[in-house]
Amino acid sequence: MRIGHGYDVHAFETTPSDNGELVLGGVRIAYPYRMQAHSDGDVVIHALVDALLGAAALGDIGRLFPDTDPAWRDMDSRVFLRETMKRLQDRDLYPHNADITIIAEAPRMSGHIDAMRLLLADEMAIDSSHVNIKATTTEKLGYIGRGEGIAVHAVVLLDEVSGSDHD
Ligand code: MG
Repeated sequence: MRIGHGYDVHAFETTPSDNGELVLGGVRIAYPYRMQAHSDGDVVIHALVDALLGAAALGDIGRLFPDTDPAWRDMDSRVFLRETMKRLQDRDLYPHNADITIIAEAPRMSGHIDAMRLLLADEMAIDSSHVNIKATTTEKLGYIGRGEGIAVHAVVLLDEVSGSDHD
């Protein structure tokens, strides 16, 4: 087993978006402000990718997908996750489980958690019973409490096995 931790923060845009939604954990959520980002700003997937890369000792999301590269502009962050999964599989590393904590004052996450779990489990090719996502606030304290952004922590375990042994 290998353990990895990922952490990411994104600020909300200061002007409302055109489509009135943001993307978290691959799920589109109705909210006036999207995240400021070079990519689609999916801070949940970014933290998860960093946890996976951390467990595999493969650096971090910024090294693999630099925000100076126009190729990643407005990119669907699921592409980062899929690319990360390929790199793990090349090394016979497979996600075992993930525990993700979203820290945000808004939007409310409870109605979206299950959809995120299913989507991220599917992308990681594991059962959704091995993916936990929880949300908390900072009790109105600090930049998150003021609704200026969202922070996410992710912890994963990877199984280190030969590809043929993995079911
Ligand atoms: Mg990020």
